[in-house]
Amino acid sequence: MLNFLRQPATLFMTDTKKNPADMQPGDDAAWMELALEQARLAALAGEVPVGALVIRQGEIIGQGHNRNLLDNDPTAHAEIVALRQAAARVGNHRLIGCTMVATIEPCSMCAGALIHARIARLVYGASDPKAGAAGSTVQVINHPSLNHRMEVTAGVLADKCSEILQQFFRRKRQQTSR
Ligand code: ZN
Repeated sequence: MLNFLRQPATLFMTDTKKNPADMQPGDDAAWMELALEQARLAALAGEVPVGALVIRQGEIIGQGHNRNLLDNDPTAHAEIVALRQAAARVGNHRLIGCTMVATIEPCSMCAGALIHARIARLVYGASDPKAGAAGSTVQVINHPSLNHRMEVTAGVLADKCSEILQQFFRRKRQQTSR
């Protein structure tokens, strides 16, 4: 049933008729595989391999990976790139009812953006003990003082999501020590 999900995300985006009517909790791993494809693209470009998708009613409406170096942009995290694409596509800065799938726990900047976009659900892979803002360093997502609440599912394909990061930094260290 999920075979079509293994197609490249670009194909997936253009053929919306094949998408399931609604995203089911069981599909999280399949979506995460697509977010990981974005992360791999980032690694190929020498960027920190993080990928993100915005999903609305079972359809990818935004996707992206870190592009800080490519764009000389400190805000160009995968989540922001995906949110911008989704908002442009929808024609609205609010992404009501949408799900964000990210390979790692969003940082405070991205968590803030998810709240501004009124994202309904956040699915992430690995926790980020150094910058995660869903509780690992600070609690921006679902902070008791903030109005917006979102459903959070953590740890989806967490090992795969952190492995790609570890591999990237290991390789970087090897390159600089040479
Ligand atoms: Zn971020």
